[in-house]
Amino acid sequence: MTKTLFNHYKNLLPITSKTPEVTLGEGFTPLVKSNNLSEKYDCEIFFKLEGCNPSASFKDRGMFMAVSKAIENKKNKIICASTGNTSASAAAYGARYNLETIVIIPSGKIALGKLLQAMAYGAKIISIKGNFDQALNAVREISDSLNLEIVNSINPFRLEGQMTGAFEIVDELGSNPDFQFMPVGNAGNISSYYKGYKLYKSKNNKLEFPRLIGIQAENSAPLVDKKIITSPQTIASAIRIGNPASSSLALEAITQTKGEFLKVSDKQILEAQSLLAKKEGIFCEPASAASLAGFLKYTESNKDYKGKKIVFILTGNGLKDPEVAQKYLSSEIVNTTSRVEDISNAIISGKSKSFFSKFF
Ligand SMILES: *Cc1c(COP(=O)(O)O)cnc(C)c1O
Repeated sequence: MTKTLFNHYKNLLPITSKTPEVTLGEGFTPLVKSNNLSEKYDCEIFFKLEGCNPSASFKDRGMFMAVSKAIENKKNKIICASTGNTSASAAAYGARYNLETIVIIPSGKIALGKLLQAMAYGAKIISIKGNFDQALNAVREISDSLNLEIVNSINPFRLEGQMTGAFEIVDELGSNPDFQFMPVGNAGNISSYYKGYKLYKSKNNKLEFPRLIGIQAENSAPLVDKKIITSPQTIASAIRIGNPASSSLALEAITQTKGEFLKVSDKQILEAQSLLAKKEGIFCEPASAASLAGFLKYTESNKDYKGKKIVFILTGNGLKDPEVAQKYLSSEIVNTTSRVEDISNAIISGKSKSFFSKFF
């Protein structure tokens, strides 16, 4: 039998004999040890590559569970509001399991790769003049009357499915990490990790909570600033959310784990994204890089991370947002003729710029 989240973690998930197995091969993503940053910062760093999920973000961990339950409950249409990745994931599972998928997106605010995914998988795409928070409000209001199953993270099964990220980390490390840095948008994922670690802790009294550090973008930081942001702004579109649906659970998560919320600037996010690509060979999307940006900020005023095991949740694949990558991460291309001599000269004379003298 193929190992799936559905069958491997069955006993820890809301799965009964009536729940149909839904899978696209989600989960069991690589936990990759850092090669360059660990040494530099004198701690043990691991990257959880959630961009390796079937639709290239962690959303698939929750989606398989939400769609299983939707089918169990005889729904044939699913709907979500999305900054991009939820729509890509919903559309993929919807296509595979013959559910009509409707996605409500903020017009012009979706990364190109994510929009193309929703289109390719055949979702019905409704683009509104408004932001994510308004899209989610609309979804809440219309889903009942149209008999649509909401697959946003306000669907409790999404949060249950996403607990598997925590299970995998503990299973693989053989213990809990000491810290976990992760981006926070609608705050579902940090809530899920908290629930997941808590569930494992209740079964094994040797485990402790990792300190959960939730990172937001500077002008989109309702949990850091402790107020709703009506017009959130950041280049990291996946966390451009001003009124997180899971705020209270996320607050409990950081309180119970002695964690905190931190905010970082877009510049810090882009530097971290570039650093991950150029120094670790990991190309993640801007929101995911916020976790490293947050860590770098944390190291400026703390020393307690030294010698510790630290996990970064890299939530989505860098290819999803080619426009940001082209604008901020691309390097010079040396043009030459097809003559071997010219190519050889180009190699010898081509200087490679060092972006990271600040770090290395
Ligand atoms: C959805 C998403 C987030 C934010 O997760 P929340 O559960 O909304 O806090 C972060 N990064 C990426 C790539 C995402 O798709």
